[in-house]
Amino acid sequence: MKTAPAKQVYDKLLSVYGPQKCFLEHMTPFQLLVATILSAQCTDKRVNMVTRELFQRWPDAESFASCGREELERAIFTCGFYRAKADHILKAAKAIVEKFHGELPGDMEGLLQLPGVGRKTANVVLGDALGQPGFPVDTHVRRLAGLIGLSGSSDPEAIESDVCAVMPPETWAQFSHLLIVHGRTRCPANRPGCAECEIADLCRHAKSGKEKPSAKKPAVRAAAKSAAAKKPAKKPAKKPAAASSPAPRKPRKPNTKA
Ligand code: SF4
Repeated sequence: MKTAPAKQVYDKLLSVYGPQKCFLEHMTPFQLLVATILSAQCTDKRVNMVTRELFQRWPDAESFASCGREELERAIFTCGFYRAKADHILKAAKAIVEKFHGELPGDMEGLLQLPGVGRKTANVVLGDALGQPGFPVDTHVRRLAGLIGLSGSSDPEAIESDVCAVMPPETWAQFSHLLIVHGRTRCPANRPGCAECEIADLCRHAKSGKEKPSAKKPAVRAAAKSAAAKKPAKKPAKKPAAASSPAPRKPRKPNTKA
């Protein structure tokens, strides 16, 4: 299957959005690992709110490895799935202390040995904290890769492999960020804004003519709403003359003045 020209998509998105930074706040590679674990099924905004306090209490792998499970669960509760996430963080922190002398492994192979760390998390840490090539495939990247036609597969590992095969390694992390920001702003799930999209001429979905005018629906609905709002309120209907019997006239007083 013919794939979309990835480099042209990258260049266009870079010119539209400019260089993007990691959305998760962190001071060290380990902190980014923790933030990425917390970000599963949670917004970056919420994660950043939680980690600002979290990293003051437990700044590194040693302190996380010795913190109480219940205390950690309470601290990350608002990120959702707090039991599983606390479990992954504790196990990863302990493994880093016991197997890697407190230092985060610096390559994909080592990172994948940590409990709860998959390729997406490892690629985030590699690309955004360790200065190495990394192309994280999250839900936005996966969806957009399919729509645009960057890969013929829906499997994250195959998408990573397809994109990395045609893009220079120094662009991988940035390309992932750009696809994420485009997915959030122009091409959200189920309502891609193809009519206004800056990469429509490069996108397989747009070129296939299968796009539905779903992006226009909200606008159409909004226009309909505002039109309805502008309509003058209906005047109450006049009672039909026949239906209303005339009020009985008061008898006129006879003129008693002479
Ligand atoms: S053209 Fe449509 S489907 Fe393709 S990236 Fe743009 S908004 Fe998404």
